[in-house]
Amino acid sequence: MCGIVGYVGHRQAQEVLLDGLHRLEYRGYDSAGIVTLGKGPTLLRASGKVAELGEKVAQHGTADTVGIGHTRWATHGEPNETNAHPHQSGDIYLVHNGIIENYKELKAEMKEQHFASETDSEVLAALVHSLYDESTPLESAVGQALKLVEGTYGIAVVSVREPEKIVVARKGSPLIIGIGNGETIIASDASALLGHTDEAIYLNDGELAVCTADTVDLQNMSAQKLSPKVEKIEASMAAIQKQGYDHFLLKEIMEQPETLQSTLKGRVSPREHKAHLGGLNMTEKQLAGVEHVLIVACGTASYAGMLAAYYIERLNDKVTVQVEIASEFRYRTFHLPKKSVALIVSQSGETADTLACLREIKKRGVRTLGVVNAVGSTIAREVDGGVYVHAGPEISVASTKAFTSQVAAMVVFGIQLAQAKSTDNKAIPKYIKELWQLPAEIKKVLSVMPPQIEEIAKRYAHYDNSFYLGRDVMYPTALEGALKLKETSYVHTEGQAAGELKHGSLALVDDRFFEVMLIRDDELLDKSLSNLAEINARGGHVIVITNSDRDIDAETVIQVPTKLTLMTPLVMNVVQQLLAYYIAVARGTDVDHPRNLAKSVTVE
Ligand code: GLU
Repeated sequence: MCGIVGYVGHRQAQEVLLDGLHRLEYRGYDSAGIVTLGKGPTLLRASGKVAELGEKVAQHGTADTVGIGHTRWATHGEPNETNAHPHQSGDIYLVHNGIIENYKELKAEMKEQHFASETDSEVLAALVHSLYDESTPLESAVGQALKLVEGTYGIAVVSVREPEKIVVARKGSPLIIGIGNGETIIASDASALLGHTDEAIYLNDGELAVCTADTVDLQNMSAQKLSPKVEKIEASMAAIQKQGYDHFLLKEIMEQPETLQSTLKGRVSPREHKAHLGGLNMTEKQLAGVEHVLIVACGTASYAGMLAAYYIERLNDKVTVQVEIASEFRYRTFHLPKKSVALIVSQSGETADTLACLREIKKRGVRTLGVVNAVGSTIAREVDGGVYVHAGPEISVASTKAFTSQVAAMVVFGIQLAQAKSTDNKAIPKYIKELWQLPAEIKKVLSVMPPQIEEIAKRYAHYDNSFYLGRDVMYPTALEGALKLKETSYVHTEGQAAGELKHGSLALVDDRFFEVMLIRDDELLDKSLSNLAEINARGGHVIVITNSDRDIDAETVIQVPTKLTLMTPLVMNVVQQLLAYYIAVARGTDVDHPRNLAKSVTVE
């Protein structure tokens, strides 16, 4: 989950590394460190944000032109300075992303060794060092060490004895090598490479590379030479800068009309009533044969999947849809019908549990399609086909624009499936039209509603508990709203199906709670209003978010101006994104870096 950077070239390494760590901070931010090699190794580490490390670098600047850096998301050992990476053992320094599962056994075998930290990563550093004798090049010691290791890793290793090179390797955690002009930049995420180079080699699992300023030698774990594939990085610098916004979260909420347009461009055509995703790698006949759709994801992406499932189901009356949380599904004894297709949904394309499910599903011979944002990511490369949602880099840990784009992309898939199956669904043109209108509808909300929502947020920011409720498509939307609030503001929040409240949770309704009810103007409107009445009758403090113009009795009513009917959840979701944002700001939390969390969950 952490961020790794490495630099070897002609520029001041500390500056490049620190800049990279700032960009990768969203991947982990409980401590950070860098080491550079030159006159002597300069190891600087600090607990807390990258800014703390920045202060140390300012005091101990060096002209060194090679080094590695890390922002940590602790798995083993407290987030303090001693546990921060890089870890040193003799001549070598190592940064690690992932978990060394057999670190205790390995540690027990190195009885003589003194360990300064509690981390699993330091054990790997010591292991490499124990295999690094006078006649062994660093890459051989790293390769041999990795053969003894169980678990996941993305690593970068340097040695004082061979200061011209950085050795990197991966199994389960991403690593990208940026090819510059007389310089090589390493990162666990393409955003750290932007502005330096747009050419990169994405390491695959089981690969190791020796990087110098001018060369990259790629090999497998048996030291056999491989030929690297150089790919283009497509993201822009603007996408990873705040551009005048106070927070990435707000910037990314505001970006949704454009990012959604990128998701839909060339994929839905309202004039021809057609929806088409180019990268599915399936013939019309294969698509027509699909009888079961499995959607697998974690966190926000799983709510995107739940929401999309309602649409795919409605569009395809002969298709069954199953949504599973990856961290559970991967360990279940699951069976899938023969004519299944699996949608693997992940913003980062690196989510460890989702990736594990993808591999399990492939073993069962079922076709896998990615619904992924990060181009070139592991899931995107391992699926049989799929769709990039093209939401651009999402820096805020709390996901917003990726959710919107994931749902939209899966609805397009649902339409394409219905069309391939020649389903006689009269609503298809309306789905296509509404998808097409969605960016403009979201734009309307974003241009008029923020002041009103900010004011409401201030009134409700003192509550430490809340419920988010909805029926039908508004149910998964409520789950997503609840997640957004809890992760950004630390308010204890539960999302529930509105009809379930009376089966238990209603017992909690009192002045410690506020409730957000998402009410869509549809055939279930009256049912939702009954649930609202039940809460009102118990003195609830309800905020209703609705597109209905009925006179609704609630403490606060937010009327959402939209002409859409089918796709309203994605419009109303924007309102609750803003609500979560403004409540978090009012509570003074670190909006872009919620405590204990990190983007791109590459550990189990
Ligand atoms: N397991 C390592 C640690 O706890 C690496 C964590 C990370 O990926 O940041 O230090």
